[in-house]
Amino acid sequence: MNDTDADRSVDVAVIGAGFAGLIAARELGRGGLDVLVLEARDRVGGRTWTEHRLGRPLELGANWVHWVQPHVWAEMTRYGRGIERSPAAEEAHWRGAGGAPRSGTLADFTALINDGQRRLVADVAEAMPRGTEPTVGAIGELDRLSIQDRFDRLGLDPEALAANESVWVGHVNAPLDRVGLSSAYRWVAATGGHWPLMHEASATFRVSEGMSEFTRLIAGDVRGEIRLGTTVVSVEQRGDAAIVETAGGERIRARRVVSTLPVNAVRGIRFSPELPSAWRRQNAEAVASDGTKIWIRARGHLPRFFAYATQHDPISVLKVEFHGSDEDGEPCTLLVGFGPDHSRIDPDDLAGVQSAVDAVRSGIRVTGATAHDWMADPLSRTTWMTHRPGQLTRDLAELQETAGVLHFATSDNASLWGGFIDGAIESGLRESRRILDALLPR
Ligand SMILES: Cc1cc2nc3c(=O)[nH]c(=O)nc-3n(C[C@H](O)[C@H](O)[C@H](O)COP(=O)(O)OP(=O)(O)OC[C@H]3O[C@@H](n4cnc5c(N)ncnc54)[C@H](O)[C@@H]3O)c2cc1C
Repeated sequence: MNDTDADRSVDVAVIGAGFAGLIAARELGRGGLDVLVLEARDRVGGRTWTEHRLGRPLELGANWVHWVQPHVWAEMTRYGRGIERSPAAEEAHWRGAGGAPRSGTLADFTALINDGQRRLVADVAEAMPRGTEPTVGAIGELDRLSIQDRFDRLGLDPEALAANESVWVGHVNAPLDRVGLSSAYRWVAATGGHWPLMHEASATFRVSEGMSEFTRLIAGDVRGEIRLGTTVVSVEQRGDAAIVETAGGERIRARRVVSTLPVNAVRGIRFSPELPSAWRRQNAEAVASDGTKIWIRARGHLPRFFAYATQHDPISVLKVEFHGSDEDGEPCTLLVGFGPDHSRIDPDDLAGVQSAVDAVRSGIRVTGATAHDWMADPLSRTTWMTHRPGQLTRDLAELQETAGVLHFATSDNASLWGGFIDGAIESGLRESRRILDALLPR
């Protein structure tokens, strides 16, 4: 192949400008390679997106980071980002045995779930001794189990079981019988086996000024073009390079290509030769996450609470994030909710949202709602990735492999915080290092 086959020739084409793509592009450009980023959306950030809605900037995708996430924290330091704490709950509401509503303090709820949370992952030190190597250890045997399988075997009393299940369905964004126990192990292994720290890491500290400002700063550091509104439709490998074709018909020759598409979304591009079997298999099965995140505006300043329903409800977790005032100057509260099945709730159907909220906590008057359906979005088809039973140990190593001149950087194939922003950054660093080593050997 020569350059006349293509409209343009670069060292590396990076497909996607989420955290994985931006970090890979930054490193490749700084390393001295000619890099071009092709992003289908009209913005950078991918599944992180700060939008002004319901009267204030809201995170429609990822929200929380933590200093136990080493890759993200290095970038927080590099770009001078601060954190703000989501409000600590003054009240807790949950479902007891048979779905009966219960209320208490945060301490009451923590005391109720403590034994179940601990026992769910009691063997994590043997199952997954190193968070950075999530397929090493007894997890090889245990990966066939779902989180529900493990809860069903713990023999918890019905009050504690209902509360414990609700906590995990909020974390994994899917019904518990669909999610591998390995997803719970990974998070707890990443926090040194300390489950309360895992809870804190995954849902407590927001990035000051928002995620979109964070990714804007990283994008500003990329030495190379970031082309927005440019959908890649095919990647054809020919010898020691590839031709990347866009929906607009442009053909770009690249010595290396980095795909940052989530596993569920790779079907959006025609790859030749076809993708390695692990990609095709997982794409056909889909990963486990299937849920929704919804922002809800309610009348008045509600007490700062969190509330859990069950995995059978449209909203299984609801918590107060902000107090403010609406367009008429009336006090309002903004709540964030999570549900295990995106098809169960529509933010444009306020009556449906009201009844979903009523099922979690009574006495809330809904006046607005908004969300982005990441599962229906063809560029993501995933919220935050969790695996189905068996997928992690069967496929992770293969998902991390290079296929000819094609590299894969995505939070979905990270080793440590797979599914999180941290994992996206890890994967971007990993693949940029591999490409720099290959194209600019020292
Ligand atoms: C609702 C929600 C809440 C979350 N909460 C958290 C949280 O609190 N903390 C946390 O750490 N993580 C959270 N996550 C997960 C986190 O957002 C992701 O793991 C991370 O942002 C993934 O980054 P990525 O670069 O791997 O993928 P993406 O951000 O998905 O980037 C892939 C990019 O590829 C682009 N693309 C796709 N197809 C094409 C194509 N054909 N051509 C060109 N471009 C294409 C996409 O538009 C996208 O920009 C959440 C995610 C969601 C959706």
